[in-house]
Amino acid sequence: MDTVPSITLNNGVRIPQLGFGTFQIKPPDTREATLTALRVGYRHIDTAEMYGNEKEVGEAVRESGLPREDVFVTSKLNNGFHDRDDALKAFDRTLADLGFDYLDLFLIHWPLPNVGDFVETWKALEEIYRSGRVRAIGVSNFQPHHLRRVLDETATVPAVNQIEVHPYLTQDGVRAFNAEHGIATEAWSPIAQGKVLDDPTITRTAQRLGRTPAQVTLRWQLQRGDIVFPKSVNRSRVEENFDLFGFELTDQDVAAISALDRHDRTGPDPDKFNYIP
Ligand code: NDP
Repeated sequence: MDTVPSITLNNGVRIPQLGFGTFQIKPPDTREATLTALRVGYRHIDTAEMYGNEKEVGEAVRESGLPREDVFVTSKLNNGFHDRDDALKAFDRTLADLGFDYLDLFLIHWPLPNVGDFVETWKALEEIYRSGRVRAIGVSNFQPHHLRRVLDETATVPAVNQIEVHPYLTQDGVRAFNAEHGIATEAWSPIAQGKVLDDPTITRTAQRLGRTPAQVTLRWQLQRGDIVFPKSVNRSRVEENFDLFGFELTDQDVAAISALDRHDRTGPDPDKFNYIP
């Protein structure tokens, strides 16, 4: 099997384009699930303080026996910690829970446009970046008008913007804005939590190529250039979702799947979401 390609972020750091997501994996199951992913070959793990499973992700990385620098780990600042001092402390806790002395990528999880000011939160992430304990910083669920303020009012361009992207929500506007400013797009819920897998266009393409609908959908994401990290607690699916490099979609396949867009979110609207746990 060909190896996972890397994407070079705007500060020169390289990130594997395919990783493993850990949202909704219960803490007691996370160590085993993450370890399985690492044994299958994944070298990029996406977690968050909000998921409550950073400790178990860190345990799995150590138990895998892999050198720390061989595994790219992302975590995210939770919504209750947007004030500067809270953000600095939350990052310390994230590192301590993971049991790491550095993190690869730290993101503002949600912009919370009606709570506090995400530009001040971004400045706290810049401070953390300058401390040398994180290799790259970015944002998640930012719309272009949120990013515009970050670009205009601060000195650091986010390395990534992690947003919901799948065939029913292709996000061409946000992805184009990201690309124009050197921000890599990370696609969360890349198979829409399973919702797109019985779509006739996707199942037809899968049948023609002798692949599964999930593989076709993830391959569509990779060929569009986005970074993905599907989640599964089922070993055979973890393997299936990693086996994406022995086939290719035609340009017509990519266009046909992109045409399935129906602006259908599985998660919250970033302009309205103000949830603080
Ligand atoms: P995904 O699109 O990855 O779908 C996961 C769901 O699909 C699970 O129910 C899983 O079930 C099932 N599944 C996985 N693989 C297959 C397969 N090959 N065939 C059929 N079903 C399959 O959804 P997520 O929401 O988990 O998104 C991926 C990651 O993105 C998250 O884990 C998280 O890391 C990140 N994320 C970030 C957000 C943000 O706000 N920044 C928000 C949401 C997610 P099972 O486990 O039973 O196999």
